[in-house]
This record gives sequence, C-alpha cells and structure tokens, in this order.
Amino acid sequence: MSAEIRDAAAAPGYCAMRQRLATVRGPAAAQPCAGCDREAQLWSYDGTDPDERTDPARGHRYSLDPGRYRPLCRSCHRRATARGASGPLDVERAAWLYRAGASSRGIAAVLDASPSAVLRALRAHGVSIRSRSRRTDR
Ligand SMILES: [Zn+2]
Repeated sequence: MSAEIRDAAAAPGYCAMRQRLATVRGPAAAQPCAGCDREAQLWSYDGTDPDERTDPARGHRYSLDPGRYRPLCRSCHRRATARGASGPLDVERAAWLYRAGASSRGIAAVLDASPSAVLRALRAHGVSIRSRSRRTDR
C-alpha cells in the first residue's frame, strides 16, 4: 500500500463519504430526482466544493460536505458526470427538437428524461407548448 493511499484513507474516502451521506441525508432513493420526475437513486456531488477531493483509486471527484450533493436518478447522474456542471436537462436541445416538430415524448427518449420534465423545462424556457393532438388516426 502506497503512502498516498494511506493518507487518503485518513480523510473520509469516496465510499465512506457515500455512507456518511446516507446517514446524514438519508437514502437518495427516498427523494425525487433533482433533474427529472423520477425517483432518485443516488447522491450526486454538484461540483461546487472549493475543497473538492478526488478518490485516488477510482478518480471520482467528491466533497466532504454532505450539503453539496443532489439526489439524482441514474440517467441524470450519468448526464451530470458526463457533462460536468451543466444543467441536468439540455433545454436548448429540447427546445430545438420541439420546434422542429418532435413530441415531448420523443424528446424525453432522446434526452433520457421524463416527458413531463421535458414539458416543464420547455415552458420554463419560454417555448409555447402545442396543444395535445387529439387525432386518433395512425
Ligand atoms: Zn433524473
């Protein structure tokens, strides 16, 4: 075991911090996802800690401050970690797709979000929502 890893073990590591979070804030699964309507599955570090830590074994960034974590579902978490600190839903892209004629359901599938989260984001973005089509022909 290298000295580096021993030192890291002295401060709460990534895994220990996950457990502390569960103790301090409860299971993420008990909360709604911060990025969509689904049920959250894990706590996600929001990337804002000036005293950020990096797990030496896995390279995960994390914070020792339980207040800097958001409850997220897996897909929002995947997006958040893939794109850094950008918003959980890509509203610009959703708006573009919507104006191009895509349905909220279709956009939701593309962006890996729920249709109602997409509609909410579009409204918040100032996009006028088309009334739901009542056509039943196929
Ligand atoms: Zn989500």
